[in-house]
Amino acid sequence: MTAISLAEPVARQTFDEVMVPTYAPSSMVPVRAQGLKLWDQAGKQYLDFTAGIGVTSLGHAHPGIVEALRVQASKLWHVGNGFTNEPVLKLARALTSATFADRAFFANSGAEANEAAFKLARKYAHAKYGAHKSRIVSCVNSFHGRTLFTVSVGGQPKYTEGFEPLPPELQHIPFNDIDAACLAVTDDVCAVVVEPVQGEGGVLPADVEYLKALRTLCNAKGALLIFDEVQCGMGRTGKLFAYMDYGVTPDILTSAKALGNGYPVGAMLTTDAIASAFSVGSHGTTYGGNPLAAAVALEVLQTINTPAFLDRVNAASQNIIGKLNAVVRDYPQVFEKVRGRGLMLGMVLADAWRGKAKDITKAAEAEGLMLLIAGPDVVRLLPALVVSDAQIDEGVTLLRRALDAVLSAAK
Ligand SMILES: *Cc1c(COP(=O)(O)O)cnc(C)c1O
Repeated sequence: MTAISLAEPVARQTFDEVMVPTYAPSSMVPVRAQGLKLWDQAGKQYLDFTAGIGVTSLGHAHPGIVEALRVQASKLWHVGNGFTNEPVLKLARALTSATFADRAFFANSGAEANEAAFKLARKYAHAKYGAHKSRIVSCVNSFHGRTLFTVSVGGQPKYTEGFEPLPPELQHIPFNDIDAACLAVTDDVCAVVVEPVQGEGGVLPADVEYLKALRTLCNAKGALLIFDEVQCGMGRTGKLFAYMDYGVTPDILTSAKALGNGYPVGAMLTTDAIASAFSVGSHGTTYGGNPLAAAVALEVLQTINTPAFLDRVNAASQNIIGKLNAVVRDYPQVFEKVRGRGLMLGMVLADAWRGKAKDITKAAEAEGLMLLIAGPDVVRLLPALVVSDAQIDEGVTLLRRALDAVLSAAK
C-alpha cells in the first residue's frame, strides 16, 4: 500500500466510495477556516453561519483556544480515569461554580452526556423509590443523540425505525403542552427531559410557563428534571446556559457541542445528592475528561462566561433578528417568521416553500454563505457567537442574493 499524504488533496467522491453512507455531505470540501471565514479545496471563501452545528461558537482557529490545546498537547494527552488530571479538576471547578451544579461527569459527546444523565436518573430513582420508578418522559420532535438509548428517548420516530427492539419505559409528549405533561408525569416517572430550545426539532423555544410547570410537576412526583443544553447552552441563547434565562433550575444539565469549540467533549452536571446515586464503577468512559479536552473546554468556558461576551451575544442577536425580520417582510412568499433565542435562530418557511429548506441552504452555499436546516421546513442559523455586525450585514446580503436566485430559478 502506498502511503497517503495529508498534504495532498483528495476528491470529494472518495466519500461515496469509502465512507459508511450515513451522511450526504456538501459537494464542497472545507480545508481551512479562521473566525467565521472558511475556504474550500478550490479556494472559494464562505461565511460560516453554521458553526459546525453550534459547535465552533468562538469561531474557527480562535487564538486562545489554539494556544490552550497547543500547550496541553506538549504536556499530557491522556492518562485514563485511573488517574485524575489537573485540567479536568479545573474544568469541573469552573463549571460547578458557574452553575447550580455541585458535580460534573465528562464524556465525549452530547449523546454520551445524555446517556449518563438517563442512567443516573434511573439509578437514583431505583435506589430511592424502587425499580418501578423507571419511566422517562420526553418531548415529540426532541433530539438527544444517536446511541440506542438516547435516540429512543428522542422524539423523532424516523431515527429509531429499523433499530427495534427499543429500550422500554419511554414516553413522548407534545412539546410546550402543560396538560399533556400533567397527565404523563405520574409516580412511576424517574425523569423528564427537555431541550429548553429544541434545536433539530425546528429551533423551537420552550415557553417559560412550560418549563416552570415541568419543574413543579417533577418536584411533586419525585422525578428529576433534565435539561439537554447540548445545543442551546454555552452562551448560545445569550446566557451561559438557557436555564438561567428561563429562571428554572434543572436537576441534571447536559452540555457538549460548543463546550469544546470543535474538540470533542461532553459534560453532565448535577447536584451532590443526585450524583451520589453513582458510585465507583457505576459508569465511565475511557476518554471522558481527558486532559486535552478539559484544557480546551476550560478556555472556552472562561472566554464565553464574561458579562461583556454575553452582552455582545445579546446585541448581535437583536441586530440579526431585526435584519432577518426584514428579510421575512421582503420575501413573504418564502418565509413565515423568525424564531429562536440569542444566536440560535430559525426562519420558518411559508406554505409555498414548505419542505424546501435544503433548496435555500444550497443556494446560499453557492453565494458563499453556509446555513443549516432544522427539519425540512426551517432554515437554521447558528453563527459563531463572535459574529461581528459587518458579518451579520454580509450574511443577510448573501441570503437575499440566494433568495433572489431560488425565486428566479423557480419561475
Ligand atoms: C447535537 C445534540 C445532541 C447529540 O450530541 P452528539 O455530540 O452529536 O452526540 C444531543 N442533544 C441535543 C439537543 C443536540 O443538539
